[in-house]
Amino acid sequence: MQLERLTPSDLVGCRYRQIQRVRYPETSPLPATMQRRARRAVGLAEVLDRLPEPPKKRGRIPFTRIDLDSDGELAEFDTLEAIAAGESLITGAIFTGTYEGVQWEVLADLLVRNPDGSYMPVMVSNHRVARPDPHKTMRGISVSRLGMGQPLAVNATLRHHTIDGYRLTLALMGLEEAGAAPDTSVGAVVGQDRDWAYLVDIARYAPAAHRALLAPAPTAPRRVKECSTCRFWPTCEPELQAADEISLFLSGDRAETYRDKGIHTTQELIDANLGEISHIAAAWRADIPVLRKTAQTTAPRFDVEIDVDVEAYLDLGAYLWGAWDGETYTPFVMWSDLGEAAEGENFAQFWAWLKARRDKARQHGQTFGVFCYASNGENHWMLSTARRFYGKVRGVPDEQEIRSFISSDQWNDMFAVARSQLVGPGGLGLKQLAPAAGFHWEEEDFAGEDSLHAYLIASTAVGEEAEAARSQLLSYNGDDCRATAAVRHWLRQGARSAPILGDAL
Ligand code: SF4
Repeated sequence: MQLERLTPSDLVGCRYRQIQRVRYPETSPLPATMQRRARRAVGLAEVLDRLPEPPKKRGRIPFTRIDLDSDGELAEFDTLEAIAAGESLITGAIFTGTYEGVQWEVLADLLVRNPDGSYMPVMVSNHRVARPDPHKTMRGISVSRLGMGQPLAVNATLRHHTIDGYRLTLALMGLEEAGAAPDTSVGAVVGQDRDWAYLVDIARYAPAAHRALLAPAPTAPRRVKECSTCRFWPTCEPELQAADEISLFLSGDRAETYRDKGIHTTQELIDANLGEISHIAAAWRADIPVLRKTAQTTAPRFDVEIDVDVEAYLDLGAYLWGAWDGETYTPFVMWSDLGEAAEGENFAQFWAWLKARRDKARQHGQTFGVFCYASNGENHWMLSTARRFYGKVRGVPDEQEIRSFISSDQWNDMFAVARSQLVGPGGLGLKQLAPAAGFHWEEEDFAGEDSLHAYLIASTAVGEEAEAARSQLLSYNGDDCRATAAVRHWLRQGARSAPILGDAL
C-alpha cells in the first residue's frame, strides 16, 4: 500500500488514519472537521488582516509580502521562489521532504525573513499559546510588526501544544532543505490572541517529532480520543468489534497495563477476574452506564438550590452564564464583543442576580447552595472574569470574592459528588450520567465542538440563522443546568437504577 505523506496532525493523532485515507479515499470529512477548518480559516484570516502591508512608497527598510496559494499545484515551487526572491513575509508556504525514508509535508502559515536572510516559521493556531504571567518573561512580537520589528520581552508563559511544535519542526526542516533555516531554531506561534506571535524554541520539539515520523504505521485500529470525531469510525468500529479489542472499553493508553499482562480483548479482561476493573468491564459489556460504589447514595441539600453552567468560546471569553432554580431557567448572555467590557457587564448581571437570590434566602432563614457539573470551567471563567474586569466594569467582583465563593460550602461540584459514589464504564460525564438519572437533552446530538460552531454562527450570522444558533445554545445550556439538578435528585433518591459494583450482573 502506497502511503500518503505524513502531516503534523498524523504525528500527534492516530496513525491508522493514514492507512484508512488510502483505503477509503472517498470518505468525506465529517461536519465537525469542516467546522474546525472553518474556525481555523477565521483565525488565520484575522491574523492575515493584521500583518503589515508593503508601503505604497519604497521606505528606508525594504519590505515586501507575498501571499501564496497553499492549495495550488505549484505551492512548493512558489515557496522556494519566494524564499529565493528574499520576500520579507511569505504566507501560505508549503514544504515537503523525506526523513530517513519517511515522506512528510507541512503548511507554514507564515515565513518571516530575518535580517541575515534566513526565515522564521510562524504558525497560526486556535490554541491558547501563552498566558499572562507577571512573574515570567518570554519573547513575543506584535503580529502587525512581523517582518519589520524586533521581538520584545513580554510577561507571559508559554503553553505547549505538541501539534504546533511539530508543525514548526517540519517547517524548519523544510527551511533547512531550502538553505534558509535560521542559526537558532526559533519559530513563533500566534494563538487565540491574534495580536501576538510568541517565540518558541523549536529544538525542544524536534526529537519527539523525528521519533513520531519514524514510528511504524499500525496494522489495526485502536480506539483513541479522536475516534469520536473521525470520519473513518464507521469502518474502524466493526474491525474493533470483530477483534473484541480492549480499547473499545479502555481507550487510548488506559489498557496498556492489561496489554502488558497479555490481555488484548474485553472478554479476556472480564475472565481474568481482576476485581473492580473486571466488574466494570462486565457492566460495559452489558451496556450498563453506571454502577454504585456504595449501597446508599446522597447529595448535598439546601432550601434554595441553583444549578449553573457556563459557555465559553475557546479561550476568548465566557458568553453565557445559565442558571436554573428548579422552576425557571435564567440565561445571562451576550453574542458579540467577547473579551470586551460587555463580557464583564454580562457577568456582573449574573453575579448580582446570584447574590440577590442568596440574600433573599438568608432573609427568609433558608440555606442556599449553587451547583455545577465539573467546576473547572466555571471556576476558571469566574476567576478570569474577575481578573480581567474588576475595577474596570461596575459590578464585577474582585478575585478574592470569587475565591471565597468557590471555597465556600455554597459552591458544589456534582461531578465530585457523583465520582465519590459511582463509577461509569464509559466515564461519569454529565452526558453519560444524566440519562441514567432519567434526563434527556432537547438537543440530543449537540456536543462541545457543535457549541463552538453554533457560537460562531450566533455571533457572526444575521436573521434566522443567528436566531436558530442562539436558541440552540440556550437550550443546550439550560438542559445542562437541568441535567445537573436531575443527577442530584437521583442521587438523593438512592440511584436505584444503577447496580452495585461487584454484584453479579
Ligand atoms: S476511527 Fe479511530 S482508529 Fe480509526 S482511523 Fe479514526 S482515529 Fe484512527
